[in-house]
Amino acid sequence: MKLHQIVIVGGGAGGLELATRLGHKLGKKQRAKIILVDTKLTHIWKPLLHQVASGALNPAEDEISYFAHAKTHHFEFQLGHMSDINQKNKTIKLDSIIDPEGKVWTESRHIAYDTLILAIGSVSHDFGVVGAKEHALFLDSRVQADRFHQTLIYRYLKLHSEAAETKKSLNIAIIGAGATGVELAAELIRSSQQLAFYGLDDVQSDQLEITIIEGANQILPALSERISLAVKKHLTKLGVTLQTNCVVKEVQKTHIITQDDTKISADITAWTAGVKAPDFLSRITELETNKINQLIVKPTLQTTKNSDIFAIGDCAFCLQKNGKPVPPRAQAAHQQASMLVKSMQKKVNGKSLPNFHYRDYGSLISLSEFNVVGNLMSNLTPNLPLEGKLAKVFYVSLYRLHQISLHGVFQTMILIIRDWLAHRTKPRLKLH
Ligand SMILES: Cc1cc2nc3c(=O)[nH]c(=O)nc-3n(C[C@H](O)[C@H](O)[C@H](O)COP(=O)(O)OP(=O)(O)OC[C@H]3O[C@@H](n4cnc5c(N)ncnc54)[C@H](O)[C@@H]3O)c2cc1C
Repeated sequence: MKLHQIVIVGGGAGGLELATRLGHKLGKKQRAKIILVDTKLTHIWKPLLHQVASGALNPAEDEISYFAHAKTHHFEFQLGHMSDINQKNKTIKLDSIIDPEGKVWTESRHIAYDTLILAIGSVSHDFGVVGAKEHALFLDSRVQADRFHQTLIYRYLKLHSEAAETKKSLNIAIIGAGATGVELAAELIRSSQQLAFYGLDDVQSDQLEITIIEGANQILPALSERISLAVKKHLTKLGVTLQTNCVVKEVQKTHIITQDDTKISADITAWTAGVKAPDFLSRITELETNKINQLIVKPTLQTTKNSDIFAIGDCAFCLQKNGKPVPPRAQAAHQQASMLVKSMQKKVNGKSLPNFHYRDYGSLISLSEFNVVGNLMSNLTPNLPLEGKLAKVFYVSLYRLHQISLHGVFQTMILIIRDWLAHRTKPRLKLH
């Protein structure tokens, strides 16, 4: 008998957890065939990318090979970039794969599905700002975060090699004061301290000038005023310049131009302002999308126009009972993946599907080694302000929970011990 084929596109925060758990629930028992598709060969948890960019984390130590993970978790992995869906034939189209020398390695191909789950995440939204694509660095993928890190290291080396009298400052502009922007700023300050520790100590701390530019009237506009003010206080103390109510009009190679024609010097510009789902989603006919290309889904996470196609995570637009959309966050992708583990077992058995209810457990903003600020939300503590060491424990546990979903408790414990040992034996910063 032909097995029900569940194809998950996107092995990120939501998709890889889902494939792993469905592999055990359905794949292992031969109750369905689970196929995961991703454009890349390895997974790295996206909320770590600002640490990859600053060098605080070596991605080679935390990435997971999809092929190896699939083998031990009873699903199949297919490398490829999905670009279209044929809803009549129930197939997805994967583009041809081009090798680094420009030769076609695999021709374009199709994969059949009975149920399709899209978990392809989001990309940065540059809002069409002139020069952003050409001159800003983004943090949507490991490749982009690596590129940021390389640029940072070489800029520092250049500064280091200059004679004292000609030494200039290194200006970094971060556009967007959401969680990613402010966390990146703090990590960059920490990196400059580490670079000085490892020998680039003739670059003075006041030569690094970080400016965060935000269009709203406060940093972290999506979070409470208390968190915003606390983070503002810490960043100001660290020497970061904050410019709120400031809209960027143009990004050039060496500076940024704001709406009121002010020029802000920027040797490196990081773009962390807003996200959208990949553009091609809005071109797929017969699926409903919103203005940032997200697929509109029902409370069951089925797309509004096709009940065999589901969407989760950043690429899905799901309204909560309170009328607000589920936010594009790792905890939302995780919760939706957890619900679809149950939904898929029910779907394969022809049962009705449950509705998704998002539970906000609060927000934590990590300011590198300096502090963690935020709040926790639970039944016992509806809005508990949190800061310092305890907040850090909760922040770190978010990634550990992701690892537990992928590897189980025992293997995650081993990884924690490995990281603890590495912390004591390896440089605190990736210097290459
Ligand atoms: C620097 C940074 C820090 C963040 N920090 C936090 C945080 O502290 N807390 C928090 O809750 N959230 C945070 N976020 C947001 C969080 O990372 C996302 O909300 C979350 O990763 C979304 O999960 P996802 O599964 O929808 O997509 P992703 O995790 O982005 O995964 C998408 C996957 O789909 C693949 N893919 C994309 N397009 C295709 C295609 N066409 N075909 C095949 N595969 C495709 C990608 O390769 C990727 O593996 C952060 C984001 C960034 C960038």
